[in-house]
Amino acid sequence: MKLASRTTRITPSLTLQLSATVKALVAQGQRVFDFTAGEPSFDSPDEAKQAAVTAIQSGFTKYTAVTGIDELKDAIIEKFQRDQGLTYSRSQIVVSCGAKHTLFNLAMALFEAGDEVIIPAPYWVSYPEQILVADATPVFLPTSEAKNYAIDLSALKAIITERTKAIILNSPCNPTGSMYDQETLEGIAALAIQHNLLIISDEIYEKMVYEGRKHCSIATVHPDMVHHTVIVNGVSKTYSMTGWRIGYAAGPEPILKAMGNIQSQSTSNPSSIAQKAAVGALQGGSQFIEHMVKELDVRRRAIVEGLNHISGIHCPMPAGAFYAFPNVANLLGRRFQGKVLATPFDLANYFLNEKKVACVPGEPFGTNSHLRFSYTGPLATIEEGLEHLTQAIENLE
Ligand SMILES: *Cc1c(COP(=O)(O)O)cnc(C)c1O
Repeated sequence: MKLASRTTRITPSLTLQLSATVKALVAQGQRVFDFTAGEPSFDSPDEAKQAAVTAIQSGFTKYTAVTGIDELKDAIIEKFQRDQGLTYSRSQIVVSCGAKHTLFNLAMALFEAGDEVIIPAPYWVSYPEQILVADATPVFLPTSEAKNYAIDLSALKAIITERTKAIILNSPCNPTGSMYDQETLEGIAALAIQHNLLIISDEIYEKMVYEGRKHCSIATVHPDMVHHTVIVNGVSKTYSMTGWRIGYAAGPEPILKAMGNIQSQSTSNPSSIAQKAAVGALQGGSQFIEHMVKELDVRRRAIVEGLNHISGIHCPMPAGAFYAFPNVANLLGRRFQGKVLATPFDLANYFLNEKKVACVPGEPFGTNSHLRFSYTGPLATIEEGLEHLTQAIENLE
């Protein structure tokens, strides 16, 4: 049977593949220093767990409204009002099975052959793939480590064409940890308004910001921007609830309505129990966030300092999210047992095979000189893992 051509356009998530390899090694009884995780190591908040238990025990276990229960939509609306001063109605909110699903619905609702979607690089691995599934064309906007991965407005302007439909922003960014400043967001907003573009603002790391920084949503930088922005968020990262699969979007009603229609013919509603858990988290989880971010900050400093102590590695301090994104260009071309390690992929494989240190190579994020280290694991593991990494690099010829 010939498979549909869209299956050959996309590559399966390398990060999930790596996680699977790590899990298999662990299952064999091996000790692995796992820096691949795209999720916090914390338990989900009690408020979420209790709400889920109550949902199960009270029989809240049937289909719900496709786009989410009113109680959850209201909690999301309250969150937007409280955190961003944005006002949405229930018909402008769709709850899905994780933010990845939200983004997929959005791609299905918006994009088709001939459409171009601008993605600043390095980027989260799924953006280009989802655009390709939708038959549209990802257009990359390179950014540089030297400039903190900031968007150059004239470079952005230069790649906007008649076909450009949307720009995807992810601030704080996975994998770079960088954030866009207000001035840049205003510049992007002006271009979006002028060219009638949609901004897809993936704000999943909104709460994971350090040193007193404040997250700024592009939807808030100009009164017209709410009409040009779909905000994507969820409880996975903020409340360490990745397994519950609850993400959501807010934006212009016609777009959200189309997303709901697509969802109605695919997954229907996200789990009724997880929706109740998300209400619990959104209403009662603020202390949880504070505690988690404080802890992540300690780990962030430790890993960045540790990585910078290793010769051949340079690692900027990330402003947000929970990834260190060291530059390893100086290590490329070195050898182990005569074999050249030419790419981040080669290096990552070498670290995993020789020293059981698992990290994600930069290639699927759109860079040939970086590795991504998630620092969500316990501090002791981070420190031990760094020692193993140091040895691995010392063993290079
Ligand atoms: C983790 C992640 C998501 C998706 O999270 P879900 O678990 O699907 O809610 C979306 N965008 C980015 C940038 C992420 O890192």
